Amino acid sequence: MLNFLSLMFAFPGTKPGLKAFYSDHFVLPLPAGNRFPMQKYRLVREGAMAAEPALDLCEAPRCSDGELALAHHPSWIGAVTRGELTAAQQRQIGFPWSDRMAERSRRSVGATVACCRAALADGVAVNLAGGTHHAYADHGEGFCVFNDAAVAARLMQAERRVKRVAIVDLDVHQGNGTARILASDDSVFTLSLHGEHNFPFRKEVSDLDVALPDGTGDDPYLAGLAQALASMFSRFTPQLIIYLAGADPHEGDRLGRLKLSFDGLARRDRMVLDAAGARGIPVAIAMAGGYGRDIADTVTVHLQTIVVAAECARRWHSGLPPAAISDSSARHVRNA
Ligand SMILES: [Zn+2]
Repeated sequence: MLNFLSLMFAFPGTKPGLKAFYSDHFVLPLPAGNRFPMQKYRLVREGAMAAEPALDLCEAPRCSDGELALAHHPSWIGAVTRGELTAAQQRQIGFPWSDRMAERSRRSVGATVACCRAALADGVAVNLAGGTHHAYADHGEGFCVFNDAAVAARLMQAERRVKRVAIVDLDVHQGNGTARILASDDSVFTLSLHGEHNFPFRKEVSDLDVALPDGTGDDPYLAGLAQALASMFSRFTPQLIIYLAGADPHEGDRLGRLKLSFDGLARRDRMVLDAAGARGIPVAIAMAGGYGRDIADTVTVHLQTIVVAAECARRWHSGLPPAAISDSSARHVRNA
């Protein structure tokens, strides 16, 4: 098994902070009334800098055509790049095409790719955006243009860094694009825990789908997650996990339909990171969705994830087991 601890000991000068990749300076020009929460990305970066002074902020690199082609049809990459999307294709994505939209979409994938490389070196890393799991090989949907997790998983394999990748998608919406792109790929395991009655209304088939009824709260959610992780690890041995830590299962989300509390979501993050850490598996985290009635709630959920990840990175760097991460770290964000 790939051992990132030995990599860190081989490079003792490695900064013990958490690498965080940002692309929020590519602001989309959106029409008035558009529901995409553009400002959340800047707020998450600013909040993360305040909550974690040792955060190692890195600008997201852009993904090349060749890298995108690992998961996308050349015709789709070309249409997005040249601004040849039809009105229907733009409606399906949910925001209009612009040069900045094309650039931001490439950077968002590039951030998850860089995040995977950093996680393989440091144990854990975060993309302060990404999680664009509704993007298919040949079209976009639901605010997603390119599928960052599918591209990044395939690129890590192409670079011969890993053979097997798991995508653990805990955004409240099913990772339909991811499931479809990777449907016949046994080397990437797709797990999606999502709201049964939520978008997308026609679900795809992941390697493991857990569909939750409306109003699901902390305890049944976490029991379902524990069971799903155990099932995944009994069937598959990933060398890297790409974790989509959506904020939209939160009870204050406009679109989520579930009832997770802040504490429940922090426990969710720890459950994923502890399960991975106990097996020595690096984790690359993408923020994914979050549409709080109060945007501050969405930002708080994302910051909790970053704080839990930073705590985890510190423990890994110090050679301590990653389990038993303190409850106080995530609570600190909520009280800030
Ligand atoms: Zn979502």
